[in-house]
Amino acid sequence: MTDDLEKLFEQARACRLCAGVLPHGCRPVLRGSPSARLLIVGQAPGARVHASGIPWNDPSGDRLRQWLAMDRDAFYDESRIAIVPMGLCYPGTAPKGGDYPPRPECAPLWHPPLRAALTGVRLTLLVGSYAQAHYLGNRRRRTMTDTVAAWRDYLPEFLPLPHPSWRNTAWLKKNPWFDAELVPALRRRVDEALDG
Ligand code: SF4
Repeated sequence: MTDDLEKLFEQARACRLCAGVLPHGCRPVLRGSPSARLLIVGQAPGARVHASGIPWNDPSGDRLRQWLAMDRDAFYDESRIAIVPMGLCYPGTAPKGGDYPPRPECAPLWHPPLRAALTGVRLTLLVGSYAQAHYLGNRRRRTMTDTVAAWRDYLPEFLPLPHPSWRNTAWLKKNPWFDAELVPALRRRVDEALDG
């Protein structure tokens, strides 16, 4: 790992900026290396990820790996795949269910330097609306669905995806083009990024 990235990972993992507001304390969860060719930007760790310190170590991760047709060994090979969510720490769960949004101070602080130090990245998966807002800005469409449906417009740098949470199962049923068109293209593009 280069000094730059190693230092940044150390600094990010030691970050306590939101210590006063995070209900379960600070535990930044991120991984990667300068040789990583694929970057996955999700929302924020959930309770299980916070407990284990392993990103996407939950049912959402299982669905994401199924979309990618990738087993856990391949998914967690950080020499090939970097994982940096929009909020590095678990934001807690709202009383009515569903996690709170990623801490708003996190992505502006950590994403620009981390992205710059991840010099090998060829393709970035923008998983969910927070990642799409940060990386696509005003190139986003009116809704998350419209943005994901326009996925061809953001290649070759970005590929927007819905969040693979069980909460989006109805969305997946309502948008069959996702499984029919986007998932095969996702697998192809990821293979090209990793092995091309
Ligand atoms: S959420 Fe981000 S900014 Fe806040 S403490 Fe965790 S790493 Fe730091």
